[in-house]
Amino acid sequence: MDWLMGKGKKKASTSEEKKLYMEAKYFENGIIEGDLHSMLTLHPGTDQNEWMAAQTLSFFNHFNLLYGAISELCTTTSCPVMSAGSLQYHWQDEAKGKKSKLSAPQYVDLVMTTCQKMLQDDSLFPTKFGQTFPPNFISLVRKVFRLIFHVAAHVYHHHYSDIIQLELYRHWNSLFTHFIYFSLKFDLLDQKELTPLASLVEFISTKDGTRTESVPS
Ligand SMILES: [Zn+2]
Repeated sequence: MDWLMGKGKKKASTSEEKKLYMEAKYFENGIIEGDLHSMLTLHPGTDQNEWMAAQTLSFFNHFNLLYGAISELCTTTSCPVMSAGSLQYHWQDEAKGKKSKLSAPQYVDLVMTTCQKMLQDDSLFPTKFGQTFPPNFISLVRKVFRLIFHVAAHVYHHHYSDIIQLELYRHWNSLFTHFIYFSLKFDLLDQKELTPLASLVEFISTKDGTRTESVPS
């Protein structure tokens, strides 16, 4: 319980926070033990795309909820640039073909509204029985995962002490672990995306022995 005794009181620097989230007592104790393998296995008779869509929606909802809990601490003053450690993220407006430098709260807001819009669009993520999935469905799922990962990387680098103070680290780490297992299993994140949390992702993946499987299109 010594993390309650003031260790996290002061806003830690990036390098301190990096150390903090790699500390076993914060991380390993936070993983909710469960049958992760069965959560990651498609049940016989379930449509792979429908299952993938439901999992994507669930990850989005959980990250949205948990970020919401610290959003008051992620402001244009505390986080004037959307970053994960030394890496800066620039928002890519695909329609206009331009990149913009945004504050973290602005960037995260765009992540959440963009993902929500995609997930609610029946032509992209069909919810009714018998609807067909678009041919680029997996690339849409990968986009949602990439954007969510940016938010997670920002939180680990810049708000992990907030997560600890709010006693959300068990939920956060459990969610992130499940997210990474799922991403690795179905190859939903490019290797270069993982860079800002490379040591954490490696730690998670070596614990599990997750392997990549190709997703039938
Ligand atoms: Zn922030």
